[in-house]
Amino acid sequence: MALVTLKETLKGSVQGRYAVGSFNAANHGMVEAILAASEELGTPVILSIAEVHFRYLDLDKFVSYALHRIEEVSTPVALHLDHGLSMETIKRGLDLGFSSVMIDASQQPYEENVRITRSVVELAKPYGVSVEAELGFVGGGEGNLVEGSVANPSDFTDPELVADFVEKTGVDALAVAIGTVHGPYKGQPALDLELLREIRGRTTIPLVLHGGSGLSDQDFRNVVANGINKVNFYTHFSLAAAAKVAELIKGGKPLGYPDLTTAAEQEIKSIVAHQIGVFGTPRVI
Ligand SMILES: [Zn+2]
Repeated sequence: MALVTLKETLKGSVQGRYAVGSFNAANHGMVEAILAASEELGTPVILSIAEVHFRYLDLDKFVSYALHRIEEVSTPVALHLDHGLSMETIKRGLDLGFSSVMIDASQQPYEENVRITRSVVELAKPYGVSVEAELGFVGGGEGNLVEGSVANPSDFTDPELVADFVEKTGVDALAVAIGTVHGPYKGQPALDLELLREIRGRTTIPLVLHGGSGLSDQDFRNVVANGINKVNFYTHFSLAAAAKVAELIKGGKPLGYPDLTTAAEQEIKSIVAHQIGVFGTPRVI
């Protein structure tokens, strides 16, 4: 098929009570693994590139490669800029050809988050690009791989602000904080499904869950049943692919570099395919 917007990949997801996976890619092999899983299952997918991963890439070259590959696959794919932290990055993403951008002003005071998000929606409009924003704050971080993080209930999304935020900003999708963290968890994640149901009742736009790695399949089924339509997923497959490579090296057999990258890609593809199934994304081709 072709490149589509985030809005297009999520069309029907609110009524259909399913989610579409948003998988971060930080190198070429990750792009191939994510697109291969999407094609194999015939489901849409959101291919994400996060600003925190720019250090691994030459962004201009990488986006042009990703766009080229997206044109070649048979499923609808959105190219999403994850956690754009400044207006400059958003503008660069729009000019490079992303079909969706996330502005993360969630750590700003409420009125400032509204103002910044609104200006990104205005900026994205002439490009026909979707915008995701965050209300409440999803903490943690991929930098914290050893200890893991715990969610702080004082950062959770205030349901009273949801309708006002969506109306004032005009965003296409809203990331909410209901108990997840970015990166690994310290202990078991505790998700506030009641809060999620309340948020779901306040808006008709798709809701986004960040910090998906570390949740069980049942946790995912629960959040999707209660109103999540896009799930961001990265840390789990990134760690699993690295573990796979370590296991092969420890095996002691002489291996070439492509043996390692191929094994890592296959691991990512199988995890992505599994997650797409858990999210209940319907087949479109
Ligand atoms: Zn996030």
